[in-house]
Amino acid sequence: MSATVLSGKEPAAAIRAETSAEAAELAAAGTPPKLAVVVATADESSAWYVRSIARSAEKAGIACDIVDLGADATAGAIRERLSGLSADDAVHGIILQTPLPAGAALEDLASAIAFEKDVDGAAPLSLGRLVAGLPAFAPATAEAVMAILDHYGIELTGRHAVVVGRSTVVGKPVAHLLLDRNATVTVCHSRTVDLAAVTSTADVVVAAVGRAGLITAEYVRPGAVVVDVGTNPTEDGGLAGDVDAASVAERAGALTPVPGGVGPVTTALLLRHTVQAAARAAIR
Ligand code: NAP
Repeated sequence: MSATVLSGKEPAAAIRAETSAEAAELAAAGTPPKLAVVVATADESSAWYVRSIARSAEKAGIACDIVDLGADATAGAIRERLSGLSADDAVHGIILQTPLPAGAALEDLASAIAFEKDVDGAAPLSLGRLVAGLPAFAPATAEAVMAILDHYGIELTGRHAVVVGRSTVVGKPVAHLLLDRNATVTVCHSRTVDLAAVTSTADVVVAAVGRAGLITAEYVRPGAVVVDVGTNPTEDGGLAGDVDAASVAERAGALTPVPGGVGPVTTALLLRHTVQAAARAAIR
């Protein structure tokens, strides 16, 4: 058996088409959508990611300001800039890029992003509202997992979903979104005993760990759906997922590729959130 490839390219293209059309309408009506990405790192892979967001934004007709505060920016300076952008009516979406300088914590600083502009769901308020069932932007990566499952018509009600990873940006929000869709959810982490015994009971496995190739065939039940969130840099400058695609593809029913799976959908959703935030600002 060879798993069906759940490419992120098609869902990302569909989201981008919708987003571009809405961005053009908003611009014509006097509210051109604008995203600000605040950067305080010299990290190369972060710079690559930010450039790719800026390129995608431009293609979608969304202005994108990269606000580079430098790798030695203080937490105070970052907070001040986030507050300034939050008060700027011309800016509709704000992303605080990681990694951050030592002494600056995302959860803490993201609270300075106005809740309506928190398009990557980074602020504790956004996550709290999400869990409480109130309107909020989910972290784009977590939502991207759901968008891929939905695009390929994967049923979640009553299915057992196992999420490997419990970070605030991916694991926890994905677990919540799956629960919200009536899956029975198990969350695993670094202290889970016999991870393979747990994951191999799943109908759907979501790997969000940051360990290249951790999930091998014996972690997966035959026919299961596997979503690989991992983006681990390889020595040759490429990207490897958390899933050992070669062995898992022989056992799973469906598998997202890395690259080309969750990543492109994440970027498309950040832009969609920005346009949604601009649309709400336009009617206020
Ligand atoms: P993170 O904050 O480092 O969290 C990793 C999680 O994995 C933690 O909960 C950790 O458990 C768990 N873990 C670590 N080793 C484990 C093991 N051997 N067995 C089971 N669980 C283990 O990472 P993250 O920010 O969630 O990111 C996870 C991956 O997704 C990374 O590869 C990252 O690059 C990628 N990512 C991709 C996108 C995208 O758009 N595609 C976006 C964001 C992140 P503990 O809690 O016990 O430490």
